[in-house]
Amino acid sequence: MLDDSPIIKTATRAGHLQTDRARRMIRTPRPTRELAQSPLFQQHAEGLPVDERIRLSYQRAKAIGRAYALTPHDLITLSPKFWQLHTDPIWSMDGAAGTLVTLQYNCCAGTLAMFASERSDLAEVLQDVLEFKVSGQFCLTEVGHGLDAIHLETTATLLPNGDFELHTPHERAAKYMPPTAPVGMPCVAIVFARTVVDGEDRGVKPFVVRLHDGTTMAPGIVSKVLPQRGGSRPVNHSLTYFHRVRLPRGALLGSPDMPADARAAFFHSISRVAVGTIAIGSLGVPALQVSSFIAARYSLRRTVVDAENRRRPVMAFRTQKIPILTAVAQAAVMDAFQAWAVGLFVDQRVEVRVRYAIAAILKVVMIQHAQAMHLTLGDRCGAQGLFEVNQLAGMHADMRGTAIAEGDLLALSIRLATELLLQRYSVPAAADPASLLARHEAGMFAELREMMSGMPHHRSSEFDRAVLPECADLVQAIGHRMAYDAAVAAGVETDMVDLYVASCLKLDPAWYVENAGVARRKQKAMESAAVDAVFPRLEELLARMDVEPYVSAPMVSDDKWGRYVAGLTAFGGPGAEMDPVNGDGTGDHSACDSDCPKLAELRPPRSISDRVSSVAGSVQRWFAFGWPMLAVGVSLVYTAFKYRRGRIDG
Ligand SMILES: Cc1cc2nc3c(=O)[nH]c(=O)nc-3n(C[C@H](O)[C@H](O)[C@H](O)COP(=O)(O)OP(=O)(O)OC[C@H]3O[C@@H](n4cnc5c(N)ncnc54)[C@H](O)[C@@H]3O)c2cc1C
Repeated sequence: MLDDSPIIKTATRAGHLQTDRARRMIRTPRPTRELAQSPLFQQHAEGLPVDERIRLSYQRAKAIGRAYALTPHDLITLSPKFWQLHTDPIWSMDGAAGTLVTLQYNCCAGTLAMFASERSDLAEVLQDVLEFKVSGQFCLTEVGHGLDAIHLETTATLLPNGDFELHTPHERAAKYMPPTAPVGMPCVAIVFARTVVDGEDRGVKPFVVRLHDGTTMAPGIVSKVLPQRGGSRPVNHSLTYFHRVRLPRGALLGSPDMPADARAAFFHSISRVAVGTIAIGSLGVPALQVSSFIAARYSLRRTVVDAENRRRPVMAFRTQKIPILTAVAQAAVMDAFQAWAVGLFVDQRVEVRVRYAIAAILKVVMIQHAQAMHLTLGDRCGAQGLFEVNQLAGMHADMRGTAIAEGDLLALSIRLATELLLQRYSVPAAADPASLLARHEAGMFAELREMMSGMPHHRSSEFDRAVLPECADLVQAIGHRMAYDAAVAAGVETDMVDLYVASCLKLDPAWYVENAGVARRKQKAMESAAVDAVFPRLEELLARMDVEPYVSAPMVSDDKWGRYVAGLTAFGGPGAEMDPVNGDGTGDHSACDSDCPKLAELRPPRSISDRVSSVAGSVQRWFAFGWPMLAVGVSLVYTAFKYRRGRIDG
């Protein structure tokens, strides 16, 4: 596994060069910054009917696409702008729009661009997709063939006149998931079909097909819109059928000939899926940034009264600090990891299997961290965390889809781990083999190889039983080590890296006790020390992520909450309105311990009339409750006094 070969050394060097380039690009202003603050993105769509929400997501997707204005060159070279699109925090505002954007540019336009340089007749449709004049889709998987898409059953039969006939032979061959149901915008798709010429199966090839004009399906094409997935931002996912649809010869992208290597030809034609693996995996960076920002802002704003009657923000509790600061640290480390991995992935000198391995590792690690954090941070925001409007729950549900689409995390892990364990190739070695995470990775390899030594082969039931369940953990271990190396090389602050390492230890604490001599208490102490070191810089770290324009969650500020509440359906007459922060205006937010950065700024300024009405409210309450209570107290004392006097006198 620890490879010292020239190809890997080249890869690593190239990776660092590319990293610098990518990093510079990512630091340039995001093209969507103003768009994110526009009404198109700031409006709360959660209460709208599903159809309207879907149309809104298309509008948003179009606006994102136009803000980036990617060219065929961007798609073919995988330019920094392409990666910037896939690390843009605007995805956290509407994951459905994000899904549509990556299908449009990476999958559909990217596949067209692969063939367009030698096919001038494709220029127009490619331009339409790039300008988002049409919706661009990618119909690969079928109900019966997802991870084994190479066995798909849709057919494209060459007819004597040179046309192709596209056909769905049975229900199992329906294309599953691509959003092909009409929503007002014409739709064109790359459709993968088993190509039959003179009765011979020449393998799965891509065809460009116009599916509908925005309202009416093309003859012979049926789209059945699926009900919503549940929880995620709505997409018009569909089942798509072709009933003996005639396609002109030019619809075929590539040659109708029998390829020398059918498997290699298939993977070449779906190579945008491999790009998609690392592209949508990269979304882990903005996901961690936005979710940690939202949870931090809420935890600073939300106060509770403690045992000493002091009002404190919930951020003062260790149980908020640990997950929030961990997510901030993970975001910084994942940012460095993503830049390093992209550098390696785009370097054509690196063996293709290694590049695809890097894509898989990145996706597995990014999604693992981001998903765990979406859930934990959502929980730490109480009831507010459950509401889609506050972004965390929607991001989590959207990312469940991301974990499956364009490379299912488990399937990626099984394939990669098996190939690495069999030493078919290797990935870049640890920069610091003595680091805890590198030792963990090496230890897992050693343990699994030892288990395999007694097995007949990797297709045996023993391998299935003992190794398969470990594959995801192994790939995560490799990724954690790579992320650590990338963060150290990129100069991420030591305390942040320490906190990241502590979060990785928590995923396999027993290994570190058994093999690295790090006792459980020591592991917790490492985390605690890192949290203490990072916390004083929280505001600085939040500002550095620069994601505030991409936050629409009302729970993050009084101002946003007030505006959100003002737009809710109300029952009851005038006078029901309350100050959203102080209830009846008397809440005391003044007591706050030193653990509470910038809390003062989170309090809305109180006007003179507010203060006057607050004092008036106190006087009113005194007459309403204080005065009778005092009277009762005095009469009790008097009765007790009389009783005592009576006993003494008697
Ligand atoms: C949000 C979303 C958007 C999508 N968009 C598109 C799109 O635009 N175009 C398109 O063509 N497709 C799309 N898909 C489909 C996607 O590509 C497939 O869902 C994916 O390839 C997995 O296939 P499957 O769902 O059929 O899983 P299955 O093949 O049914 O696999 C289910 C599970 O079985 C297990 N499994 C399967 N094979 C193996 C194996 N060899 N070894 C061990 N375990 C195994 C794994 O646990 C796996 O998770 C989308 C999916 C999602 C979730």
